[in-house]
Amino acid sequence: MDSELLREQGHIMVDFIADYYKNLQDSPQDFPVLSQVQPGYLRDMLPDSAPERPESLKELLDDVSKKIMPGITHWQSPSYFAYYASSTSVAGFLGEMLNAGLSVVGFTWLTSPAATELEIIVLDWLAKLLQLPDHFLSTGKGNGGGVIQGTGCEAVLVVVLAARDRILKKVGKTLLPQLVVYGSDQTHSSFRKACLIGGIHEENIRLLKTDSSTNYGMPPESLEEAISHDLAKGFIPFFICATVGTTSSAAVDPLVPLGNIAKKYGIWLHVDAAYAGNACICPEYRKFIDGIENADSFNMNAHKWLFANQTCSPLWVKDRYSLIDALKTNPEYLEFKVSKKDTVVNYKDWQISLSRRFRSLKLWMVLRLYGSENLRNFIRDHVNLAKHFEDYVAQDPSFEVVTTRYFSLVCFRLAPVDGDEDQCNERNRELLAAVNSTGKIFISHTALSGKFVLRFAVGAPLTEEKHVTEAWQIIQKHASKFTRNDHY
Ligand code: PLP
Repeated sequence: MDSELLREQGHIMVDFIADYYKNLQDSPQDFPVLSQVQPGYLRDMLPDSAPERPESLKELLDDVSKKIMPGITHWQSPSYFAYYASSTSVAGFLGEMLNAGLSVVGFTWLTSPAATELEIIVLDWLAKLLQLPDHFLSTGKGNGGGVIQGTGCEAVLVVVLAARDRILKKVGKTLLPQLVVYGSDQTHSSFRKACLIGGIHEENIRLLKTDSSTNYGMPPESLEEAISHDLAKGFIPFFICATVGTTSSAAVDPLVPLGNIAKKYGIWLHVDAAYAGNACICPEYRKFIDGIENADSFNMNAHKWLFANQTCSPLWVKDRYSLIDALKTNPEYLEFKVSKKDTVVNYKDWQISLSRRFRSLKLWMVLRLYGSENLRNFIRDHVNLAKHFEDYVAQDPSFEVVTTRYFSLVCFRLAPVDGDEDQCNERNRELLAAVNSTGKIFISHTALSGKFVLRFAVGAPLTEEKHVTEAWQIIQKHASKFTRNDHY
């Protein structure tokens, strides 16, 4: 690592990235939000093997502009409204840069004490912003604490493993086939994957049915009924995955009754708030995690909506030893004096992999360089923009809003004509393809109760009201093909 070369080329790279962000706003026609390339497009543009001799950064950046950019879907475009956002910020970017520069591997406390200690402190800060119960804090009375996982999928996997081992310790390992878990048909697909990796039998994964009567939240009565039924049959219920802000429609599972059920039956309750958990730093959204007191674990993705750049998924657990018991490894070459006394945190034992990035650095920088007040206001701005879009939809009789909106996601569709749901689904499918093929905006879709539903998710940091208005005009223009001949 030549420091002078880094200085010279680092400046070039920062300029390149700053220009990218500027051009995304000033020349959107040059950056189709959804990449329009065909599969395999890059193969013909690049040589078959790596160069023998070094090339210049200039040549490389030219290739980025000409060959890589066409294959980029611009998640940071102000007209990106698909899935959930991957929010970036200058602070998050600088944090990533510093992280790349230091490139430490903080798997144990010893391998970079600051990496471990900052993570503990920053997750306590964030827990306080979210008003999480004291038992999740490292300074709380119990054995709780936080750890930054790479992604939401990793977070759910480690807690399933922790809960599985906790119950097997009690009932005996041979009863693994009897273990049962509960989520809903809206729970993120990573839950099923985590259970299968954890050896839970597929037929013991209960995904309870939801519908519009609960705005797609998990019905507590169905949960209790399923648990009673399973107990009567000799199964062992041990894990409930509740979601605050589901992936499809940002539905919210009612944590208070679910928590009471978990407590009554001694079941591990995990709360996956990957997207909407971020909004809970605002007092007006905190109510969505009321009942968190009865949860054993809670995770959110700060890379989704807390401007922390990819990737950063804070996870808090009530009992760190459940996690450590399931995941610890003790090879001799990682032992050191203080670790033997259990006085320090060794994050390798709170996650799947050994190596880990210094992610708390960027979270710390985001929290410090913006301040909680600004972060709350960024989130509120996004919610207001979503409300603005929702108003447009509600005012146009050709469309309908499909679910009650809580955060910055609007689920909507072209309304059915004469109750013809099949035709309606087909039209919405066509509308989605048409608007995304313009390259001017990118929206995504989901299915709810058999309906093909369009999703408009606000969360890209550059989005302003004018982008929302333009997006609506594009959608309306393409929808006119279907609505012209209808009897509106
Ligand atoms: N849980 C929910 C509710 C999500 O919406 C997502 C992703 O959108 C995940 C989990 C998975 O998160 P990740 O992509 O960080 O693994």
